[in-house]
Parts: sequence; structure tokens; C-alpha cells
Amino acid sequence: MNVLMKSSSEILKKHFGYDSFRPLQEEIISELLNGKDAMVLMPTGGGKSLCFQIPALMMEGTALIISPLISLMKDQVDALRTNGISASFINSSMNRDEENMAIEKCMRGETKLLYLSPERAMADLKGWLPRLKLSLIAIDEAHCVSQWGHDFRPVYKVLHQLRESFSNVPLITLTATADKLTRIDILSLLGLRSPKQFVSSFDRPNISLAVKFGMNKRDKIRDIYQFITKHKNESGIIYCTSRASTEEVALDLKELGIDAKCYHAGMSSDDRTKVQEDFINDEVQVVCATIAFGMGIDKSNVRFVLHYNLPKALENYFQEIGRGGRDGLKCDAILYFSIGDLIMLRKFAEESGQPQINLEKLERMKEYAEAQICRRKILLNYFGENLREHCNNCDVCGNPPKHFDGKLIAQKALSALKRIELEGKKVGGNLLIDVLRGMRNQEVLLPGLEKIKTYGAGADMSAKEWSHYILQMIQIGLMEIAYDDRNTLRITSFGDLVLKGTVTLSLVIPTIEETKIRISKDKIRSKKVVVEEDDTSLFEVLRKIRKEIASERGVPPYVIFHDKTLRLMEEARPMTLEEMLDISGVSQTKINLFGKKFLNAIIDYRN
Ligand code: ADP
Ligand code: ZN
Repeated sequence: MNVLMKSSSEILKKHFGYDSFRPLQEEIISELLNGKDAMVLMPTGGGKSLCFQIPALMMEGTALIISPLISLMKDQVDALRTNGISASFINSSMNRDEENMAIEKCMRGETKLLYLSPERAMADLKGWLPRLKLSLIAIDEAHCVSQWGHDFRPVYKVLHQLRESFSNVPLITLTATADKLTRIDILSLLGLRSPKQFVSSFDRPNISLAVKFGMNKRDKIRDIYQFITKHKNESGIIYCTSRASTEEVALDLKELGIDAKCYHAGMSSDDRTKVQEDFINDEVQVVCATIAFGMGIDKSNVRFVLHYNLPKALENYFQEIGRGGRDGLKCDAILYFSIGDLIMLRKFAEESGQPQINLEKLERMKEYAEAQICRRKILLNYFGENLREHCNNCDVCGNPPKHFDGKLIAQKALSALKRIELEGKKVGGNLLIDVLRGMRNQEVLLPGLEKIKTYGAGADMSAKEWSHYILQMIQIGLMEIAYDDRNTLRITSFGDLVLKGTVTLSLVIPTIEETKIRISKDKIRSKKVVVEEDDTSLFEVLRKIRKEIASERGVPPYVIFHDKTLRLMEEARPMTLEEMLDISGVSQTKINLFGKKFLNAIIDYRN
């Protein structure tokens, strides 16, 4: 046992360049080496692949990996080959000859890992596959077996035939998303033999969480622009609800000089593939996408994931932000939250096949967005995990809410609302704010709202401040949104009590970031220069070399070295190949293939 584990650590360093295992990896590997089945539940970026790749290298025969997407197969095979491991896939992108060659290589025992789609595996099970000597079977994205999940693939249901054909081969299933029902389906439908279940923490501490509220479209674009100019050369995804908004946001950003493209299911498959590949190869910086974007992407250096709109559930949100920071380096996740989005999503949920469940999920999403306590605690708690300490890597931890006696402010808003109600009229949040601030626009004047006694009573505060306070009043339950009455605001009985002054009330001082940039055409041009300005840090030098090598070899840059490895090189500045080998992520094979190029660059830079 000890001998085995020792050699698995050696393989970890030799082939992958890493010094230590992540939580659970070692246990899972030894389970497979002992011939047992295993079910693995780990978050995206948790390090699932090594759990079957390392035993595959240590056992006799070929490991069969079932993977649902061609792009994922290609990515893993590229990465393995760059580490000097004989891996291949067989899929519809190959011609007959290529296929036959790949099969023959497997039959000769020269391939350690073979990736197949589930459809292909089932077809080949009637042909050559049973004659292959298998070391283990890994079923990736195992949640696809469940109808309850979001990626149901009917063919997953017959994959248990693999177990029947190879009854003595250890089988491992892996997934990042599995609620209770999905877990039961994985266990019962994929033919596992009393497997040990390995469930790792879903915390991704390197992803920093933040929510911004009360921004209109213009504000959001400004804010995003400002954010991206601080993160030049860094890859990021902006998720939007609608196809139209992905196009709009990409266009707005492009006009500001940012290298952005859109991606949605309405585009041709060629166009989508092109955007995805450009993103993976660091050819385009930002992709504005619907949720259609992401599953086929293993890109490890996504440095920010922004949500231009509110997602419909925390499952979706968690999965989407999980595409950032896979290499363990910092990643920013910012969610833009607006009542307008909430109202729209409520409507979708109500019209969906399962309104009760979907409304409940949306409610939990909303609670997260409105939270006044550590957001990571809420997120992990949703997945059944309790975080003891505050995370110190979310906006609430970084800027804890400051409470004050908010009775007067609440009374102004409640009184205005009450008087409007007494006049037999109805208003939404924006109009209420206009009345409070004494605005003289059509919406106010036409129904005669300027005659209300509290008209202008809140003129001392900005519309943004008011919108924060009104959101808080809704959250506390002083007023509510009448979803059944054109989403207007309604005072509640608790609101009446506060209005009468019989209870105390504390509110939180809103944090309102002023976007400093005024976007004018001149500014755009001058900003563009800043974006394109050359960065002369060692990291940038190494990044350029990485890009060249990646292009030559036809693989994504992160397959050559992760950002994290480049950062470590920048820090350690090794002077010899031996010193370079000490860096996490640098394997012997990579040293042999391109270590010299990086080393020379570091030496030049030092001089
Ligand atoms: P998952 O499939 O769970 O999303 P991956 O297997 O792609 O995650 O691993 C995520 C990243 O973490 C990869 O870049 C991988 O090389 C890296 N990684 C995995 N295990 C380790 C480890 N023990 N030490 C350092 N990095 C690791
Ligand atoms: Zn926190």
C-alpha cells in the first residue's frame, strides 16, 4: 500500500509536475488501485482528472474514459500528451484511417488512456472494445445519467453495460454537480459495485464573490469597462440572460476598445466553435455569453466571471462561477442584481412546468444576492456545507454592513406610498423614488403625484441611495412587490406599524461605488491606448513565449503551463533547469520539450 502511494506521488511529480495531492485524490487513487469502484463528487477545478489518470498510468492495460463532449476529450488528451503520456480519443472528427490507427495502437497496448463518447463506447462494445485489456473505466460528467440534472444524455442510462462486459475492472464516476436525486441515479444506473463515495468540499476559496445592486444598463457597462481595464490581458466571461443582451454587451465593450465577442445558441455552430477556440487560445479576451457557453471548456486561466443578469438558481450560479480560477489563482465573480431581472425571472418560473420548485430556487438566489452576511457561507450552506469562519473573500466580509436608525428614511418612503395608495393610485419603485425626490417628469405629473404631501420629502438623497433603501424595505417586509398587480409596490401591515412609529427600525448604509469614468469618444480612444500598452513584467514575457509554443504545437496556452506555474516562475526566477523542475506544474517532460525557452527568457530578463 505504502509502496503504491509512494509511486503515485512520484508519478504526480514526474508526469504532472505537482508536489502534493489535493484533498481526496490520494484516497480515490488507492481505491482504484485496489480494484474497487468509486463515486466522486468534486467541484469544477477540484482536480478530478488526476484521480483516474494516475491509476491509469500505474495499472496494466488501457483506461477507458467516457466523456460527453469532443472539446473536453481533446483538451485532456492535449494536456496528457504534452506531459508525455500516450493518450488518444476516437470520435466523429476523425476519418476511417485515423480511427483504425488509434484502435490498433490500443490493441497493441500502447495507449494508456482512451477517451470515447458514450455513444461511441456503446457502439464499439458490439465490436472491438471487448477484446481490449482495460485497466479501469472512468465515467466523467456522470450527472448526465439523471433526468433530474440539467444535462441529461439518454445514452448514459445504458452505460451500465460496460460494467457487465468488464466485470472485474474498477469503475469510477465523476461529477461536479449532483443533488441527492442525481446521486441516487448515478449509483443505481451506472452499475457501480458497492462503491465508496468521495464528496469533497465545494468551497472554491480563490473565487472572490461580490454583488452590485442598483445599476442601470449604462452603469453596468461602465462598471464592467472599468473592471476590465484593470484586468488587461486577463480572460473573462460575462453571462447574460438573453441572446440579444450578449450581442449588445459585446458591442458596447468593443466600442470601448475591449476585445469582446458574443456567444449564444442562436449562432451557427461554426461561429460558436470559433469563439470558443479563440477564447481557449487567448485570442479573444472576453466572451459575453448565455449559459450555452462553458460546459465544454477546461480553460484554467479564466480570471473573472461576471453576471450581467441574475441567474435563475444558485446551482447555475455556482456552476458558472466555477469556470473561473481552475488553476487556483484569484478569480473575481461579480453579480449585477436588479429588481427588473428578478421580476422577469419570476415570470419565467411561474410559466415553467414546475413553478413551485423554480420559484423556490429563485427565492434562494435572491437571498444570496441580498445577503448581509458572508456570501460564501450562504452559497456553501445551499449545498449542505457549513463554513465555520467568515471567508474574508467576499464583498460582505470586506465591507461589513453598517447599521443606523433608519426609521425616518423608512417613514418618508412608507408615507409617500401610503398617500399614493389612498389616492387610489399604484406605483413601482422608480416612480416612488421620483415622487420622493420631487422630480417633475411625465410619470409623476400626469397622475398628479406632485400633489401628495410627501412629494419631494426625500430630495436630499440620490436615486441610487433611495433604490438601495427601498430594496432593504422590501427585504425587511415593510413593503412588497405585487407580482399579481403589474409589479407595483404595496405597503404591508409591518410597514404600517413602522409608519405609525410604534417600532424601531435599523437600516444599512448602502455602499455606492461611483463609476469614475465618463465614457466619451475621446476617452475611449485614450483608454484604448492604455489597454494595448505593453506590459514588460516577466509574467508577460513568459506568457508570450507560452503563446508561441502553444501555437506551434496547436494546443491552448494553458496546456503548456498554467498561469499559476508562470507566476511561480516569475517569483522564483530559476537559473537552471533543475531549479525550474522544483516549480509546481513543471514536469520532466515539459522541461525536455520547452524548459530551455522559458529558462533563457528568465535569464535574459534578470540581466
Ligand atoms: P476538474 O476536472 O475537477 O474540474 P481538473 O482535473 O481539470 O479539475 O483539475 C483542475 C486543475 O487543477 C488542473 O489544472 C489540474 O492540473 C490542477 N490540479 C489537479 N490536481 C492537482 C494537484 N494535486 N496539485 C496541483 N494542481 C492540481
Ligand atoms: Zn465572506
